[in-house]
Amino acid sequence: MRLFESIIDANHRAVAGDASAGLHPAEFADALPVAALTCIDPRLNAYFPNALGLPAEDFIWLRNAGNIITSTLSSTMRSLALACAVKGAREIAVIGHTDCQVCKTTTTVLLDKLKALGVDRSRLPENINEFFGTFGSERQNVIKACDLVRNSPLIGPKIPVHGLLLDIESGRLEWVVNGYETLQAQATPGLAGSAAVPALGGPMESLGAFKEFALGEMKFPETKIGELAAQIGDSVSQEEAKLEAQIQPKLAAAGQSIEQVAGQVTHYADKNWPKPPAIRVKPSPLPAKKNPLPPPIRPRNDFRRG
Ligand SMILES: [Zn+2]
Repeated sequence: MRLFESIIDANHRAVAGDASAGLHPAEFADALPVAALTCIDPRLNAYFPNALGLPAEDFIWLRNAGNIITSTLSSTMRSLALACAVKGAREIAVIGHTDCQVCKTTTTVLLDKLKALGVDRSRLPENINEFFGTFGSERQNVIKACDLVRNSPLIGPKIPVHGLLLDIESGRLEWVVNGYETLQAQATPGLAGSAAVPALGGPMESLGAFKEFALGEMKFPETKIGELAAQIGDSVSQEEAKLEAQIQPKLAAAGQSIEQVAGQVTHYADKNWPKPPAIRVKPSPLPAKKNPLPPPIRPRNDFRRG
């Protein structure tokens, strides 16, 4: 399961009363930290990041009234972009909540309340709804925000953008926009995970294959590097055995040994294969412990409400 699949699963189990439900953040080191935009409602203070089962250090918390994104280049977008670029956030979540007062407040009521605070209507922007971003549906607001974030030029194509709705009473999370699916749908067809291993032919053909086998140009998701390397290894060993059986009689006739040809191939490969980039392992922020698996961080919904 990917990070937010696990978060939702653990949250639902915890809300249903499963005391063992939780998340092992160390299993999702590649997807953390998360940048989340929520509403300013103080009732949310006790929910985050507990409702997600995430440790505080992996939760970059942005808030504005109504968790609203007004445009692809808004001030909140600027913060989300910097959360990713500077603070290293790997996934984004827009988390709305039920019973949101920004949603419930009509323009007339808002103007009345502002007036009571001494705010002069004539000094306010012309289009109040557009300026304050007031909305009529918490769910639609989350969908719209995700859409704007996804299409913002400030956010790269690798960051999943999820939309969630938190039940303010129970702490249950509903997955409104699945950012993994949106990413998958937008990915260029035929690129991801389809790197082909070149077939090896006779001895001369195999040299040709080496020329064209530019590993550095192959496109595949980082998480599949190990899998792909294993596939290449298996395929190469099988082809090696076939090749040896095919060419040994011909080489014997030409007075060359298979070791001589292998030497030429190795020399060619050393000289011409691009060196793959070093795989960086993210160091764990926690000191090594004797117990390799700490107890899971449990989604909490048992705080006292005011
Ligand atoms: Zn709210």
